[in-house]
This record gives sequence, structure tokens and C-alpha cells, in this order.
Amino acid sequence: MATLTGETFESLNPATGAVVGTYPVHTAEEVEAAVAKARAAAQWWASLGFAGRAERLARWRGALARRMSELGEVITAETGKPAGDAQLELVLAIEHLAWAAKHARKVLGPQRRAPGLLLSNQAASVEYHPLGVVGVIGPWNYPVYTPLGSISYALAAGNAVVFKPSEYTPGVGKWLVESFAEAAPEHPVLQLVTGFGETGAALTRAGVDKLAFTGSAATGKKVMATAAETLTPVVIEAGGKDPLLVDADADLDAAADATVWGAFSNAGQTCAGVERVYVHERVYDAFVAKVVDKAERIEAGEHYGPMTMPSQLDVVRRHIEDALARGGRALVGGNGAVGERFVRPTVLVDVPEDCSAVREETFGPTVTIAKVADMDEAIEKANDSPYGLGSTVFSKSRGMELARRLRTGQTAINAPLSFAGIASLPFGGSGESGFGRIHGPEGLREFARPKAIARQRFTAPIALTSFARSKKTEALVGKLVAKLHGKS
Ligand code: NAD
Repeated sequence: MATLTGETFESLNPATGAVVGTYPVHTAEEVEAAVAKARAAAQWWASLGFAGRAERLARWRGALARRMSELGEVITAETGKPAGDAQLELVLAIEHLAWAAKHARKVLGPQRRAPGLLLSNQAASVEYHPLGVVGVIGPWNYPVYTPLGSISYALAAGNAVVFKPSEYTPGVGKWLVESFAEAAPEHPVLQLVTGFGETGAALTRAGVDKLAFTGSAATGKKVMATAAETLTPVVIEAGGKDPLLVDADADLDAAADATVWGAFSNAGQTCAGVERVYVHERVYDAFVAKVVDKAERIEAGEHYGPMTMPSQLDVVRRHIEDALARGGRALVGGNGAVGERFVRPTVLVDVPEDCSAVREETFGPTVTIAKVADMDEAIEKANDSPYGLGSTVFSKSRGMELARRLRTGQTAINAPLSFAGIASLPFGGSGESGFGRIHGPEGLREFARPKAIARQRFTAPIALTSFARSKKTEALVGKLVAKLHGKS
């Protein structure tokens, strides 16, 4: 789409600074035009029904699977992540797309509901209709997996989508939209708008039926304020400060491996990455030694890429410096770990709980490890956070119990981040991590409008909702309800 102003921006390779591509900065008028086009496309897409949509979504899935390495190269060029990690996010995204398309009918199609005794002459049912046009605003850290968590489910539910990818990964967004257009060429069901925050704000106020935002909590608040102007509903998938708990009976090698992967993979730029670890005092020393041993073998630039967003380097440096100035110790990395583009793995211990490294999202390859007297203390400290996205528990005997007590949207037991790959599970947070759910049946329903229908099958012997209602009927109903519920 050509812009009215002709203004453009460049996406850069964060490992080298080289220009990867040039993209238009779309204006509010252009965003509104895209939403108007989407409205017509949405009607056609909805009219296809579950089967017609599933067929086209399967074609798109096939293209994504066949051309994984091509798309992976665009991901690597724009984020700097290694090819294997780009493939991993694609594999997960494809699994979610398959699940959403396959299960949409079962989750959203007509379902019978019990009408209750008093209205037993009615047939009650509910079905979930598409909202219409959904706006999706994405981040850059998983530029396929994350936005597709909304896009796949919104499309499967019968909506058209206007997608604004992060200004750091517009090329990935363009690739996705173009490949979808090849699978469903008839109408612009999935469109792309590119630009900075202003383009995102324009999409938020363009009259979409729902706005799915994934990004930082700070931006999420702005999105919600803008959406309030038009009473547009929002899903906010924001950041996290995810804890990992290690119980006294945990498999320490597995827990250390999960800590290192959860904290350092993707250079720590994972919303549900491991940022804080609470370890039972009985296994603390042994666990820390294992983490240090594993962390020392991880190389920035080999096992993970650069910081995608240069401004994040300052945040990571500030958190490390604050932790060290307040009595924390770096067992790996620390001062000097933050380079010009890459950050070396950093393992911090003895960090006071009120330090920024423990309270705020670092979004870098750092982790704090703290000793706790028991798992009650671990739960208390883990839950003492403004965020509530994901969490991990390592425990042989108490995994389920501890998971239930963690105030996060999802918890993985004895493996890192496993919930993110299970398409049938909902994903989302609370507090500063946002609200609403993507993935799973909840994710499909997030992009649908429940439609309740009560169909009268025969005239009721007792007419309640008519002026013809008699005193006798009233007395009868009164007695009936007293008998039914009065003993409770
Ligand atoms: P960000 O908040 O800076 O930007 C996200 C998107 O919002 C971008 O596309 C940006 O252009 C757009 N935007 C900026 N200002 C806007 C405005 N006023 N109105 C509308 N849109 C606006 O986030 P980021 O740096 O791209 O991503 C990193 C953050 O995303 C981290 O906090 C991370 O934890 C979070 N994240 C969360 C999830 C999740 O599912 N919960 C997944 C991935 C990333």
C-alpha cells in the first residue's frame, strides 16, 4: 500500500545494523481504509463457514510448513535470532494454526444448554459468531509465534484481521500477510499496516471490533486508554517477571537446564522467560553450582542473538548495576556483560527483593537466584509481583499443589515453558501482564460473540411472561420454587 505522506522507515539487522527493508509509515486515513476493506472481506470470510475457512487455513499452514526456512531467514535478519530458534517459533505457530482451524467448529459451533425446569418448554442453545474485524498489534521478540497466537484464532473464528507488526519486524509481517493472500486470494481477509506507535494507535481507534495487543505493559495501558475512546474491547498480552521454583526433591539437573534455557534463550527476550528463581535452601548450593556450570558454556552470538531493540541494552545494564550496587553478586557475567549489541549470560545471587532486577521485566539474558527456607516462602515471593504471566515449578512430589498456588496464567511443571507449545491450553496473564486469553478454546472464544438462542418447542402449561398470568399460576410457581430451593 502506498502511503499518503510517502514517509517510510527501515528495518535493520540488529546483529550488524544493515538495512533489511524499507516500509511505509501508514497514516490514520490509510489504516481506516484498510479496516473498511476488511469489513467487506469479513462478511465473505464469515460466509465461508468453518469448513471453507479451515480449507484455506490448511493451505496457509502448508505454505508456512513448506517455506519454513525462507520465513526463518526473514526472522533471523530482523531479530538476529539463530536459525534453530526461528524454526522453533515457526513450528509452534504452525501447531497453533492447525489446532485453531481444526477445533473452531467444535468450540464455536451451536451447543445445547439445559433450559431449566421452569422453562423446560424451550430449546436453549449458544453459538459463537465472528466479531467482524480484529486489529492485531504485535511485538518483535517472536514475530511469528506471538501475533499468530491472536491472528490464527481470530481467523479461525471467522474474523478479518488488520495486522500491525512491530516496527522492528515489518518484513516478517509482510511475509505472513502475502503468504496468507496466496492461500486465500479472493478477498483481503488478512491485511498489513506498518509503522510506529502512531500507526498502532490509529488501528486502535479505527473502529475494529476488538484489538489484540501484545507488547509491553506500558504500551498496553496506552492502547487501553485509546480503545476506551470508542469502547473497543481489547486483549492485552503484556510482559512478565516469571519465577521458577526449585523444591528440595527436584531433579536439579533438569531444573538448572530449564533455568538456563528459560533465562538466556532468545537473549532473554521472552515474555514468559525465566527471570527469577527461588530455591529450597537444602538444594540451593548444588543447584546454583549446576546453573553456573551450564551458564558458563552459553555464548552470546552462538546460542542466542543480539538484543533486538538497542534501547533494551540500557535497561539490562541498569538492572545488573542496581543489583550489584545493592549487595548482589554476579556468579556469571555481571558488570561488563552488556556489550554494544550482545549481552553475555548473567547469573545474579543475593539480590534484595526490591531491586529492579527482581521487580521489573529485564527482558535480557539475566537471572536472579534466591534461597528460601521452604516452598511457602517461595510461593509468597513468587506471587509478590505486579506481573502474573507464567511460572515454572520443579518438584517431584508437590508439582500440582505448588502450580495451583502460583498466581500466574500458566505454570509448567518439571519442564520449561511447555504450556506455550500446547495449543489446547489458554495463554494470558493478570495484573501488569494484561488480561484476556489467546490459544485454546478460550482463545477462539476471545474473538467471537456468544449468541444465545431460546426456541419455544411448545406452549407452556404455566404462562409466566404474559398478562394472562393467573393468581393460581403465581401461587403454583411460588410453591414449586419454595419446594425446589427452600431447603437449601
Ligand atoms: P512495545 O510495547 O514497545 O510495542 C508493541 C507494539 O505496540 C509495537 O507494534 C508498537 O509499534 C506498538 N505501539 C507502540 N505504541 C503504541 C500505541 N500508543 N498504540 C498502539 N500501538 C503502539 O513492545 P515490544 O518491545 O515490541 O515487545 C516486547 C514486550 O512484549 C515485552 O514486554 C514482552 O514481555 C511483551 N510480550 C508479551 C507477550 C505475551 O504474550 N504476553 C508475548 C511477547 C512479548
